[in-house]
Amino acid sequence: RIALENFTKTFGDTAVIENMNLEIASGEMLALLGPSGCGKSTTLFAVCGIHRMDGGRLLFGDKDVTSVPSQNRNVGVVFQNYALYPHMNIYENIAFPLKIRKDNKKTIDEKVQEIAELVHIPELLDRKPIQLSGGQQQRVALARALVREPDVLLLDEPLANLDAKLRLEMRSEIRRIQQKTGITAILVTHDQVEAMSMCDRIAIMDKGQIVQLSTPKDMYENPASEFVAGFMGNPP
Ligand code: ATP
Ligand code: MG
Repeated sequence: RIALENFTKTFGDTAVIENMNLEIASGEMLALLGPSGCGKSTTLFAVCGIHRMDGGRLLFGDKDVTSVPSQNRNVGVVFQNYALYPHMNIYENIAFPLKIRKDNKKTIDEKVQEIAELVHIPELLDRKPIQLSGGQQQRVALARALVREPDVLLLDEPLANLDAKLRLEMRSEIRRIQQKTGITAILVTHDQVEAMSMCDRIAIMDKGQIVQLSTPKDMYENPASEFVAGFMGNPP
């Protein structure tokens, strides 16, 4: 499990998140859903360690990683703009986290091959990122995030750059890969359909607070407030 306890984040003298509590079970995919500016990315950045927390604790399993620097946390991250290394080919992009960790060449070869097959791009390993479509680049980004078997996979609006058809395809692909690997995952999105179709549970955020946390079905049928109802597309 991944747990945030009393997480607080301030920028200057503004508290953007105050005393947030959130627990994601092992193997669960949870959506952080909410309007622009509600604090979704800020929460994700705290989990991966890009941002220092101004209060509270972060646990991976029972391990307190609050003070562990970002590069020493075992997290896989996929952002909206894939951020592949343009000068490296696809193989090198995926292998990069393992090279940093100093795995040996044989292990790296095997793991890259295995993950490339999982995300269905084994024939693209020799290409450069610029020679791939958006959907293919996103598969590479997923492979690179997953190759070192992270404790948690963090996805920040991973479908936002794709056209409608590809977005639909990648929704089910990301879910398939998440379930196949059994990885614990957090998906940040402002699209309620995406959250409902991809995730086990949804945490709805508003102004730095989680206002409801439930399964997609329960959230849709029993919204705790008008805000949630409106956001889930099922207003009274
Ligand atoms: P979006 O859907 O637009 O990506 P979000 O839910 O991810 O929104 P955050 O990026 O987490 O929102 O931002 C939450 C709040 O914190 C916003 O009001 C934002 O202006 C503020 N904020 C985020 N980063 C910083 C920063 N580095 N300095 C100051 N304020 C910031
Ligand atoms: Mg954001």
